[in-house]
Amino acid sequence: MKPVPFTYIQPRSVQHILDALAEYGSDARIMAGGQSLMAMLNLRLVEPKVLIDISRLEELRNIRIDDNFIEVGAAVTQAEFLSWPHLEQEAPFIARALPWVGHFQTRNRGTVCGSICHADPSSEIPLALALLQGEVVLRSKRGERRLKAAQFQTGMLQTARGDDELVVAVRFPRGVGTKGVAFREVARRHGDFAIVSVGIVDTGAGMLRIAVGGVADRPSCIEVPRTISSSDLAAIVETFAWDLGGFDDLHASARFRRDLVRRLVPSLVVETLQCAA
Ligand SMILES: Cc1cc2nc3c(=O)[nH]c(=O)nc-3n(C[C@H](O)[C@H](O)[C@H](O)COP(=O)(O)OP(=O)(O)OC[C@H]3O[C@@H](n4cnc5c(N)ncnc54)[C@H](O)[C@@H]3O)c2cc1C
Repeated sequence: MKPVPFTYIQPRSVQHILDALAEYGSDARIMAGGQSLMAMLNLRLVEPKVLIDISRLEELRNIRIDDNFIEVGAAVTQAEFLSWPHLEQEAPFIARALPWVGHFQTRNRGTVCGSICHADPSSEIPLALALLQGEVVLRSKRGERRLKAAQFQTGMLQTARGDDELVVAVRFPRGVGTKGVAFREVARRHGDFAIVSVGIVDTGAGMLRIAVGGVADRPSCIEVPRTISSSDLAAIVETFAWDLGGFDDLHASARFRRDLVRRLVPSLVVETLQCAA
């Protein structure tokens, strides 16, 4: 199948994008790396009248650090972020999770923000945003707002983004995970979407934050004390896994996904504590 005909816009500036979004609203689609959108267009799962290609806009291609956050602009590819020289030091969790996002070919075009906007429950970058309690920066002609990960992703492939809003950047808190971090995912092959992914960071406040992707309709987090006993942890993870619910698909049943959570979390807690020691 081929896409429905659309008008292609290559914007000159962010202002140009915001003008086009204000004019066309839900008839317009932003295209970043196109790694998810092109398939959706070809299958006619989406039928926009206007496609706004932001991939070559230099204004959006930057990684900035301020006192608290690493800000990744909307045109920064996953490969560019992965090769950012400060990644391991500033965001060790992302340094571990990013190589699992697709393949180097897809990472060369796919963007960090595009993955967050696509909001696939099995995706590693939304998992990282939820785990690190990052935020999404949205801009429209009405102004700018920032949403926490939990406010932004509202369900499977669903976000709180308005039709006239551009995600201009995502912001990851600096240094989270430097005291201990672990990531693992189970997928059919490396580069496939995760059946289940688990990330853990030591928050530095006596707590471990645990995020699970691929089970519920969005990444889900809990916190447990660093000093928790293995029996208490098993009980908490049991309840957490049940509460995630899960879904059956071609790759795994909901029951199998919950079982992976029960098995992966305790071993990753040990890994996080060892990494911190
Ligand atoms: C073979 C293959 C394997 C893959 N494996 C994985 C994997 O293991 N894990 C994983 O997480 N992903 C995987 N992906 C998806 C990949 O990571 C995509 O790059 C990502 O999901 C979307 O990023 P993109 O920049 O390509 O966005 P696009 O495809 O261009 O856009 C995706 C959606 O987000 C919207 N959007 C994009 N940017 C913005 C913005 N700035 N503001 C508002 N809306 C925006 C678009 O309108 C569209 O609805 C895979 C893709 C392929 C082709």
